This record gives sequence, C-alpha cells and structure tokens, in this order.
Amino acid sequence: MTLVVLGSINIDIVVEAPRLPLSGETLRGTHFHTAPGGKGANQAVAAARQGASVALVGCVGDDDFGSRLVQSLRDDGVDVTGVATDPGAPTGVASIVVSAAGDNSIVTVGGANHRIGRSELHRVDERLEHASMLLVQLEVPMDVVAAAVRRARARGVGVLLDPAPVAPLPDTLYADVEWMTPNAVETELITGIAPLGERDARRAGEWLRERGVEHVAITLGAEGCFYTGAEGSFRVDAPTVDAIDTVGAGDAFAGALAAALSAGADVGSALERAAAAGALATTKRGAQPSLPTAREVDQLLRSRKQRAGPGGPALA
Ligand code: ADP
Repeated sequence: MTLVVLGSINIDIVVEAPRLPLSGETLRGTHFHTAPGGKGANQAVAAARQGASVALVGCVGDDDFGSRLVQSLRDDGVDVTGVATDPGAPTGVASIVVSAAGDNSIVTVGGANHRIGRSELHRVDERLEHASMLLVQLEVPMDVVAAAVRRARARGVGVLLDPAPVAPLPDTLYADVEWMTPNAVETELITGIAPLGERDARRAGEWLRERGVEHVAITLGAEGCFYTGAEGSFRVDAPTVDAIDTVGAGDAFAGALAAALSAGADVGSALERAAAAGALATTKRGAQPSLPTAREVDQLLRSRKQRAGPGGPALA
C-alpha cells in the first residue's frame, strides 16, 4: 500500500545577511545556499524517511532546479513517476532572506505548482487504487486539492489535510477529511479560536469535528499537540530537545503521522511518533535536511521511556 502525496515542490534559495534589506537597498550577504523544499515534497520525504512507501504527485518546470529536485526526491526513495515536467512554467521557488538575528522575509513564486490541474488529478486517481492514505497541503490550487480529497473519500481512502499555508477552505471539504493537522496560527484563522490552553484547543478541535473532520491534531510547537476526535481529547507531549531551527517541524509532524497511520499504528502511538519527528526536525537547520529517520524517532522515544522508568510518567 502506498501513501499518496499531492503537493508542491520548490527550490528554497536562501541568502543570509546582517539584517533584512530596506526598500531599494543592496546589502552584502554572508552566506548562500539552495535546498529542496515545498510542503508536498517535504512531507513526502518526511514520510519516506519513516519507512512509508510514498508516491508524490506534483509538477516542476523544465529547468535545472526541477531535475535536481526530482533526483533528490528519488534519492530519498520517493516514487516520482507522478511528478510532471511542465515546459510552460518555472519550478516553484521560495526566495528567503535570513538576518543575523534570525528574522526572515520570504517571497514565493508557485510557478509549476500552480499548473497542477486535471492531469495531476488523474495521476492521483490512478494511485488511489492501491493507496493507504492521501496526504495534501494547500500550496497547490485549492480546487484540485478539493477534487482529490473527494475522490479519495469516494474510494474509501482516508485523507490527511495539513492546512498550510492557511487559506479559506470550502465548506464541503471538511466532511471528506479524516485527519487535519493545523498549527496554532492556522487553527485560529480557520476556526476563529486561538488554541491558547487545552480548553480552547478542545473547542477548536470540536469546531472542526462538527464540520465533519474525524480526527484533529492541533500542533503546538514545543507543547506537542492536542488531539480531538474519535479517541477522545488529550495532549501529546513533544520530547524536550535543543531546538535551533523550527523550519520543517510541521512537515515532519504531518509526514510522520501519515506514515504511522498508513502502517496501521493506533492514534496514540501515531501522534507520539509525529510529535517526536517534529521535535527532531527542530534540532537541525533547514526543512528537508532536518527530517528524521524512523530509527532516530525510535531512539528518541526509547530514551524518553527509559528516563521515565518503570512506573514513571506515561508517554502522554
Ligand atoms: P509548524 O512548524 O507547522 O508551525 P509546530 O511549530 O506546531 O508546527 O511544530 C510541529 C510539531 O513539531 C509540534 O507538534 C512538536 O511535536 C514539534 N515541535 C515544534 N517545535 C518544537 C520544540 N521547540 N521542541 C520540541 N518539539 C517541537
């Protein structure tokens, strides 16, 4: 069984400078690098590193960035036969300026990701036949996401929607979504409820449940996540780590959750693995370079259990 991911593929172009430039100003930067990114690609890689069999459906431009990105997905074991090359648009790009203080400003150009349409839908459809789950985000056109979600539902394939970057959702979408993983900001923008404490996180989860989402996991940074759904409502701690860069944490969480659920894990242990994967992603810089392997997640969870000791606090 395959975890099918429909989503974006970007190249991140990162420059570091003493501070962010003012309008019209040219600054001398200190570092430059490029890195594979895009939420679809990040989550596909996150799930593949957790051992899932993953097929990504998406679109890159007919340029050097596109071929490099596809090769790096392949190197991570992702099935890229569903990734098209569109000669009519450049590969999606995120141009990122990072200041010495850690602030950033980002301009993204969707490029080929915005060309995703009918033929990608068809490729998703073909892959749903043998799919354990469909994983989607919102960096590609909403109408295609909504159509893919409907088709998965019609075939009885569960859908995990990570609603990022946040956008207004069609009212009819919720009922076809099995799992949703908004972070705190996305939760507030979608439900109007800021999940500041457990009471509000539960209220926000219930808001989504009333509209038809079966399981809601609101991610809360270092606080882990708050689950509301068929299994009740409870918080799952994130292991304590030395966080240096939170980029990629949400993608690690969603990808690891989808991988664990695809492998048949129960809700509690799938969330525990997702929270640990998110935590590990904060211990390294960048998005894809920081996504942990299954073995790293196992080790972190094992060392935490050992510290808790027999009869010690249970893992959330
Ligand atoms: P996003 O990156 O989408 O904003 P979060 O910041 O909520 O999402 O992070 C996603 C998950 O990553 C959290 O649920 C948690 O498990 C883990 N995480 C994030 N930041 C930390 C941190 N500082 N320490 C430990 N775990 C973290």
